[in-house]
Amino acid sequence: MTNEMLQQWVERVSLQYFGRPFKHQATFNGRLKATGGRYFTKSHHIEISPHQLEAFGKEETEKIIKHELCHYHLHLLRRGYRHRDADFKLLLAQVGGSRFCKSLPERTARKPIPHKYKLICKRCGMEYLRKRKVDPAKYVCGKCRGKLSLIMLDIEDMP
Ligand SMILES: [Zn+2]
Ligand SMILES: [Zn+2]
Repeated sequence: MTNEMLQQWVERVSLQYFGRPFKHQATFNGRLKATGGRYFTKSHHIEISPHQLEAFGKEETEKIIKHELCHYHLHLLRRGYRHRDADFKLLLAQVGGSRFCKSLPERTARKPIPHKYKLICKRCGMEYLRKRKVDPAKYVCGKCRGKLSLIMLDIEDMP
């Protein structure tokens, strides 16, 4: 299948299931291996993995096309176009798109809490980073069992 055929395919699916035209570009990208497709929020282009087509056939690939078109149309309509958005979930279910795609950078990864405190052993100088305030009197150095003191780190000192 050529890129031109893919383009026509995406345009057809767009009109048939979304009632809206796909006015941007759809291409195959052989480097997409772990994911079936991608939608680019800047260019509005869609990329589909040819490996998906080889491995699972047209039916599965069409589900991926629908998935990417959900991102595409909702994004252009300024609706919730991310995987976690209710708009996206609803539209995906309506058109019967594939649930899987790793195209968009999801904001699920939470930032780790930075270490704000440091326990320092008064005897051997061993340091222990802590995220929350702790009472140094309740702990002893794990290395030499010496007494500890607590220091609050400055932002610049944070690892
Ligand atoms: Zn997706
Ligand atoms: Zn120590």
